[in-house]
Amino acid sequence: KPQAASQPSANSADRFQLLERMGDGAFSVVYKAYDRQLQSHVAIKVARKFQMKSSQRSSIYKEVSIMRSLHHDNVVSLLDFRESNDYFYLIMDLVPGGELFNRIVELTYFSEPLARHVILQVAEAIRYLHNERGVVHRDIKPENILFDPIAYIPDPTFVSSSSNRGKKDEGIFIEGVGGGGIGRVRLADFGLSKVVWNEPTLTPCGTVGYTAPEIVNDQKYSTGVDMWALGCVLYTMLCGFPPFYDEDVQILTQKVACGYYTFLSPWWDPISDSAKDLISHLLTVSPRDRYSIDEFLAHPWCQARLSTDMEG
Ligand code: ADP
Ligand code: MG
Repeated sequence: KPQAASQPSANSADRFQLLERMGDGAFSVVYKAYDRQLQSHVAIKVARKFQMKSSQRSSIYKEVSIMRSLHHDNVVSLLDFRESNDYFYLIMDLVPGGELFNRIVELTYFSEPLARHVILQVAEAIRYLHNERGVVHRDIKPENILFDPIAYIPDPTFVSSSSNRGKKDEGIFIEGVGGGGIGRVRLADFGLSKVVWNEPTLTPCGTVGYTAPEIVNDQKYSTGVDMWALGCVLYTMLCGFPPFYDEDVQILTQKVACGYYTFLSPWWDPISDSAKDLISHLLTVSPRDRYSIDEFLAHPWCQARLSTDMEG
């Protein structure tokens, strides 16, 4: 259990000026807020304790303890955690662009360079979680992928002249590629996440020792759920609809179980074979054969970023 709030928590309500609702869940509401103590805008996930089962309370503590251990540019960071008699407060960095989901709806679908710009950042977050923290997110989807709408801002000190011909103005912030208005991408919502390394294997290169193969294998497979989800997100970005869909939940479940999806014409006709090849290695039923995050990042479609960034 994480440390309890260090100050009397009855003041929590005075500390925050709630500004607007940004998202709803079954037991929590996320607000944009002004934090008078931190003197900045933040996002607060407020969870009402009333009628919460003890298992739901402990899952909040789990979410907090996992988020506390995470420090990465592409992962939403937890700034503080408070609890009052009636509420839990998770105070997070505000990610002002909102959900990737809404951006897909607005643009219908993403160009390959824009999809690459986004998915590589999600993949960097996953690489950090899987390889450095032993954490499986387990709820990767466009609603839980948030972004900063940082437009390309040219470096004011950069002077184009004959002496630096051919050099590129690198700008100050992350460049939004492909006109999507998406700069930095950050993974949110660790409510379902899980630490899959047990204590003795907490170091990635540590000896497995006396651990049985099925345990080792299970740890390896459980990271696979994020890779499957990553494939679903990439698919959806490129064409605007998800790989698996049916109004009937039973049929949908069957399609997922046997990995039945297609690159539907005409939507997929202009999309590169390389992108399709990458997706097919993620939407692979057997987790044994599915790409790991390292295999994903090594694929030519991901490696093509340097050449295409120059064009777009
Ligand atoms: P839930 O478990 O209810 O899905 P989330 O943590 O996913 O909770 O938050 C719900 C929604 O609130 C997100 O999908 C997003 O729209 C918004 N949200 C969450 N965290 C942030 C944040 N740090 N900055 C901006 N919006 C956020
Ligand atoms: Mg969510």
